[in-house]
Amino acid sequence: MSTLEIHQIPTRSDNYVYLLRETSSGNAAVVDPSDAEPVLETLDMFGWNLTHVLATHHHDDHVGGVPEIKEATGCTVVGPKADRDRIPMIDVEVADGDTYRLYEAEAKVWDVPGHTSGHIAYWFAESQALFCGDTLFALGCGRVFEGTFEQMYDSISKFKEVPDETWVYCAHEYTMGNAKFALHVDPDNTELQAYAMQIQHRREAGVSTVPSLMGLERRTNPFLRADDPALASVLGMDGKSPVDVFAEIRTRKDNF
Ligand code: ZN
Ligand code: FE
Repeated sequence: MSTLEIHQIPTRSDNYVYLLRETSSGNAAVVDPSDAEPVLETLDMFGWNLTHVLATHHHDDHVGGVPEIKEATGCTVVGPKADRDRIPMIDVEVADGDTYRLYEAEAKVWDVPGHTSGHIAYWFAESQALFCGDTLFALGCGRVFEGTFEQMYDSISKFKEVPDETWVYCAHEYTMGNAKFALHVDPDNTELQAYAMQIQHRREAGVSTVPSLMGLERRTNPFLRADDPALASVLGMDGKSPVDVFAEIRTRKDNF
């Protein structure tokens, strides 16, 4: 086991691509490369050698750069078994419960369907890093395109296993919009109010709000609080199941 150095590359209007570097060598992996050019330029600038792509799901803003990156570097492409036909050039298929070894680091893989049916997440426990693609966002969660609300709720519930000190490396800078919605449904949460203020200051300064800390998300992200009776009560849903509460919050966000 060993820890990885993580470097964030902003791409497109609001995507985040991540480079994971093994500190003892010049080797690096890239998570969800939307585009090849910014990734290859960054590798060049740092003098790092790309060995792997880790993909979370088939959307173009996550794997659009894969063919060109593979052609340029000859790297190994790791991706969801369930999406083998939708993601170009997968060499290594991974699925729920697998442990994927990247250099000396180990990632636990979860199937997290809902946003897409084949979506997976990678948790590098020792690096305290969760790469969750479009499943969980800072103060939000992904839209449910290819699954049911119940599936999406079960998917984000898998993240209960990760400690509070884990950094949530989601794939988009959606935090400001998510904060406005979170405050709309949970207006009296003082920790959320403080977090939203901090987010606003960071965005005004042009600074990334990602990654966020799982512990803070657990106390402020309404989608992670669907099983909290206090939030159900605020929503007028006393006694409803966490899945029902989650579905209600997700539906309200879709229409916000
Ligand atoms: Zn997506
Ligand atoms: Fe996306």
